[in-house]
Amino acid sequence: MNYYSTNNKNNQVSFRQAILRGLADDRGLFLPESIPPLSKSFLESLSHLSFQEIAFEVSKYFIEDEIPKSDLMNIIESSISFEAPLINFSDQLNILELFHGPTLAFKDFGARFMAQTMKYFLKDNDKEINILVATSGDTGSAVANGFLNIRGINVIVLFPKGKISKIQEKQITTLGNNITAVEVEGTFDDCQRFVKAAFVDKELKSNLNLSSANSINIGRLIPQSFYYFESYKQLENKEKVVYSVPSGNLGNLTAGVFAKIMGLPIHKFIAATNANDVFTKYINNGEYKTRPSQITLSNAMDVGDPSNIARIKDLYEDDHSMISNVIFSKSYSDKQTLTKISELKDKYNYIIDPHGAVGCLALEAYQKTVEPNCIGVVLETAHPGKFIEVFENNLDFKPEIPERLAISLNKKSITIKLDNNYKHFKDVLLK
Ligand SMILES: *Cc1c(COP(=O)(O)O)cnc(C)c1O
Repeated sequence: MNYYSTNNKNNQVSFRQAILRGLADDRGLFLPESIPPLSKSFLESLSHLSFQEIAFEVSKYFIEDEIPKSDLMNIIESSISFEAPLINFSDQLNILELFHGPTLAFKDFGARFMAQTMKYFLKDNDKEINILVATSGDTGSAVANGFLNIRGINVIVLFPKGKISKIQEKQITTLGNNITAVEVEGTFDDCQRFVKAAFVDKELKSNLNLSSANSINIGRLIPQSFYYFESYKQLENKEKVVYSVPSGNLGNLTAGVFAKIMGLPIHKFIAATNANDVFTKYINNGEYKTRPSQITLSNAMDVGDPSNIARIKDLYEDDHSMISNVIFSKSYSDKQTLTKISELKDKYNYIIDPHGAVGCLALEAYQKTVEPNCIGVVLETAHPGKFIEVFENNLDFKPEIPERLAISLNKKSITIKLDNNYKHFKDVLLK
């Protein structure tokens, strides 16, 4: 399967090159030249397939003969190795828990699949590869964890100082080994800007083998489409299924669009956002205006210039009316988010994290104003324990912290501290 750049359809590379490069040389994002429809029989037989079998069938189409089937199955077995259970509260509200992986966020799916795939492609390579990843919270820990101890691959994680939670910071800074944590005096967008600049930096290019692991890497998106199929399988009632996706860089949403184009009967997507509502404004009035990101309680969605918008526009031929027909969007304040967390606790004794709460709010709005009887699925993108401070500072209850999270809290952090200056970041890389 060839992958083209969203900046130029004629600029094409193989799957291998797309995953190893991350970003196209013209700074576009890679997309598969076609997204093949899955067979009707596959879609009808979903309920007889395991999650890993579904993952195998779906990924086969994106990879074709670039990875032999038995190796692909190995990659899936070692990366998609935990469940994605759907919790049913009513037809209108189902919560898809995507946090059962090692770092307790949905990003484990993408990061682990990408890490195993890169490892496969680099197995006969003796040149070290350096993966740069900017994080607004969960990406860094998932990617670092996915690549931990993989030989020949170094990971450099950039995070904005003081803008990610204590637990997230611990998850990134305590791994050591082939993982380097860099704390930047700036915002997530500054971190992302450094990464983008590094990729087009000729001096770096000639000295280092660079790759990216942000949600711009197609190797992370493909596995994120698996759980749309897996959750659809688990639904009792499948009429007019609507997915509410807490959105930042729109990776999860784009993966959902892949699933829909492949034939999964998704009625509508909801892009749920916090105060960083650039995409919501785009959906609702057609204008795309980037803005510096603002800090909120759902910090993994604090993005002022969502990278995957280029893919969404490309997949729908840059036709705003088509896009707004498929995607509904609404944004919510921190106050509304907290109220929703309390409400779910009172009503169902279920503790949701701030990102999932934003997803529930937007689903509720859609059901109130557009389609009351649709089947709703909210992607619960992280375990609430990752955001313990939000609970301690604002609410009178708090979730338990799972053991695998608690362990990293007691480990020692090692961090490189940087001011907001690309030159200094470059010096670190060249060293
Ligand atoms: C990354 C993240 C998001 C945003 O996902 P995108 O794919 O960037 O839109 C939402 N919630 C959590 C918990 C995240 O870690």
